[in-house]
Amino acid sequence: MTASILDGKILSEQIRSEVAQELTEFVAKTGVTPCLAAVLVGDNPASQVYVRNKQKACEKAGITSQLHRPPAETTTEELLALVDRLNRDAAVHGILVQLPLPKQIEETRVLEAVNPLKDVDAFHPENVGRIVQNRPRFLPCTPHGVQQMLLRHAIPIAGAKVVIVGRSDIVGKPMAIMLMQRGRGGDATVTVCHSRTRDLPAVTREADILIVAIGQPKFLTSDMVKPGAVVIDVGINRTDGGLVGDVDFEAVKEVASQITPVPGGVGPLTIAMLMRNALTAAQLQCKEC
Ligand code: NDP
Repeated sequence: MTASILDGKILSEQIRSEVAQELTEFVAKTGVTPCLAAVLVGDNPASQVYVRNKQKACEKAGITSQLHRPPAETTTEELLALVDRLNRDAAVHGILVQLPLPKQIEETRVLEAVNPLKDVDAFHPENVGRIVQNRPRFLPCTPHGVQQMLLRHAIPIAGAKVVIVGRSDIVGKPMAIMLMQRGRGGDATVTVCHSRTRDLPAVTREADILIVAIGQPKFLTSDMVKPGAVVIDVGINRTDGGLVGDVDFEAVKEVASQITPVPGGVGPLTIAMLMRNALTAAQLQCKEC
């Protein structure tokens, strides 16, 4: 069996055009143009690419974007002052602090300082708590993109056995919570694996839907996949051979029924869901407009 490809580029364009249409209606009704402020500390080359792509997507969607570029040696206090300024600026609806931050900066303090109504990454504890309680304000962009990928390809989630490899705050943990919630896009039976999981292949082979987010190039091999499983590769790894995922795509596509490529799978969806959140942020802050 050769798996069919779950194309994130096509889906991302569809979602972005839905957002753009809703945004046009919002602007016509309120006269307010949503604005997303990105904060990029230092010169991390991968972060620069991510932020540039996010800004391009804003431009296409009709969202104004700002870029703030404090130097690599910025202190926590200086960054907190910038976040405070953006929190107070009524013209800024969404704030995105690009991770990773340089080592001297206390990341938790910075992410907690973002106004929860402007927290388009959904990293603030208040927003994380709301997700856990199944009353989200924003959904985190990458897990939301994966969930949309499953829903819009009519891949059954309810009752499915989902195995997630990786337990980060950004991907694995919120992904698990979202898929186990009651209701549409949830009701799965979720297992979360990590570096301490015993006999990982035995666990991953149980999955109807296998989501891999660990940051290890081509880690997931075909013997770790149940024939006919759906495989979602969140990994983005820069190697001499270019960008590769966490899944050994060529081998696994012969076993899986559906699989996401890297690049062109989950990555574009992450950006589409960020546009969604930027519009939601403006809508939330503009209730009385
Ligand atoms: P983190 O480094 O924060 O977390 C990695 C997780 O993987 C940890 O829970 C770790 O376990 C687990 N892990 C690492 N090695 C193994 C192993 N050999 N076996 C089992 N579990 C393992 O990564 P992120 O979640 O931030 O990112 C994961 C990948 O996804 C990266 O490639 C990243 O670039 C990509 N990414 C892609 C995005 C997109 O838009 N497509 C967005 C965000 C991330 P433990 O907790 O025990 O250490």
